[in-house]
Amino acid sequence: MKYAILSLRLLLKKYPYDLLIQAITIIISTVVTIIPIYMIDQIVRMVQDNRPIEEMMGMILLIALVFVAANIIGIFVAYYDAYIERNFKAECSILFFKKLDQIDYDFHESPKFLNDYTRALEDGTERIYRSAIGVIAIVRIVIQSLSVFVIIFTMHYMAVVYAIGIGIIYLFLRFQIGHLNYKAMSLQRPFMRQRGYVNRTFFIKDSMADLKTTQIEEILLENNAKANDEIVKVVDDLIMKKTIISYIGDILIASIYPITLGVLAYVTIEDIEIASFASLTVAATTLSTLVSQFVSAIGDLQNHTVECRIPFEVLNMKSKIEGIAFQDVMGDFSSLEVQNASFSYDKEHLVLDKINLHINKGEKIAIVGSNGAGKTTLVKLLLRLYDTTDGDIYINNQNYKQTTAKSLREKVGAVFQNVEVYAVSIAENILFRKPQNQSDIDLIHQALQFSGLDEYINSLEEGINTQVTREFNRTGAIFSGGQMQRLAIARGFAQNYQLFILDEPSSALDPLSEAQVYQNMMALGREKTIIFISHRLTTTVNADRIYLFEQGQIIEAGNHQELMALNGVYKKMFQSQASKYLGENDEDN
Ligand code: ADP
Repeated sequence: MKYAILSLRLLLKKYPYDLLIQAITIIISTVVTIIPIYMIDQIVRMVQDNRPIEEMMGMILLIALVFVAANIIGIFVAYYDAYIERNFKAECSILFFKKLDQIDYDFHESPKFLNDYTRALEDGTERIYRSAIGVIAIVRIVIQSLSVFVIIFTMHYMAVVYAIGIGIIYLFLRFQIGHLNYKAMSLQRPFMRQRGYVNRTFFIKDSMADLKTTQIEEILLENNAKANDEIVKVVDDLIMKKTIISYIGDILIASIYPITLGVLAYVTIEDIEIASFASLTVAATTLSTLVSQFVSAIGDLQNHTVECRIPFEVLNMKSKIEGIAFQDVMGDFSSLEVQNASFSYDKEHLVLDKINLHINKGEKIAIVGSNGAGKTTLVKLLLRLYDTTDGDIYINNQNYKQTTAKSLREKVGAVFQNVEVYAVSIAENILFRKPQNQSDIDLIHQALQFSGLDEYINSLEEGINTQVTREFNRTGAIFSGGQMQRLAIARGFAQNYQLFILDEPSSALDPLSEAQVYQNMMALGREKTIIFISHRLTTTVNADRIYLFEQGQIIEAGNHQELMALNGVYKKMFQSQASKYLGENDEDN
């Protein structure tokens, strides 16, 4: 019930005047319920009293007018309800999208979160809306039923007691069905995600080549078939149980009308007036309909509210980093200090172990080391996607753990190896917003020049306004791996980060192109502070300082000459790469 009230509160918060509209609906439906019962009583009495036909017709006409008026108002209410439904659901789904901004990065690594979030996104808005209007429907049916109860109760209480008793049993059965549905949904969720994953993969263009040329398709389809089998098992079991319970419930509800009538006839027929009996038959029919409606509404509400738990939990998820206002990072970037920082993803194995490094404004810092050494993890800590497990990071002498992530990320930004391009224009892909004025356009061109993508973009007919991907446009630009990385570098440049981190964004570039990017980077002078992570040690020669990572630790630090003089791991790596490099021939196609 808690979630039903929360849903209603959310609806009324967005549309407070809905309360008035719903009150009108309740009054109209109550009037429309009572009128037929009252009308039969009056007509029978008129017939018994031999009243003129015009008088009877006049009354019928009056009642007909009330019905017509009620229906006209009903049409407006239905139109308004559809309007609210459409808008409320759209607004609710935006709440879920926006929530993503306030969810810590590590949540995305939890299958439970992914199950819950996808479930909330898929039908959370529907469930919240249905729960909110479900509460309103129940209030309406209760008021309608009370008016009929009062009428029948004045004839004989037994009929009402029977109807209530059946209502309670039916309600219990509906709750059982609700629980079964919820359980079945939870059991199916991981398999539905598995199926969704396969669907997605078959749709993504990037996987097409693998799907066509390798056996991966078979593995995915096999997983899909397994997921289907599991879903079918769950659904089979559910349908069987639901059918039996529903059947029992329907028989019970169907018995209300004959039993109510029978009780009334048996107990009161001798001293009841014909007019009252006539109206009672109508009341008994209405009663059985209302009890069944009431129980269905309660059952539906319960079905929807159990499903609301997850969407509301998602909306109320508490993060430790995202969306929380600590202190903004003050002033321009001046220094970064990593002090004894350790980090573990699973609270067991240390991926970074007591890292110490410092970076001053304008320095160009290289981080090198073999795969899995912890370099990208450090970048994620520097962006405060995670907090250190031990030790601290300071920016301008402010502790990361006390800075607002958003303000930090306005100054510190990164470009990663894996690049996502979006189906919007090249300009928007670079700025991540719409260009507003000439200086935005100039910035885009500078960024393209910096990344070395300018020549290609200028050769396109629509230049920076060219749409990216052919998802929505036949002539959209398609980028090669190397061009995507250049685009990412341009993006990083255009964001104007004061501390700009490049996490192997040049791995798909050929050596010459890579050298050009690094040359451009060095030419930025003391304005920008840059950390670049690279496998290729030739790019580190001009760095102010190089940190060599191995198994989560910094094993050597210093500039190129210092590290070569050290005669250690760096020197060995450098020499072995330099000899291979001569034969290397990457393609920036
Ligand atoms: P590098 O960038 O130097 O190649 P990473 O920082 O990506 O190394 O990875 C360091 C270690 O942390 C690796 O052993 C990797 O498997 C592990 N790792 C990386 N990301 C995660 C994650 N999200 N959850 C658990 N372990 C991770």
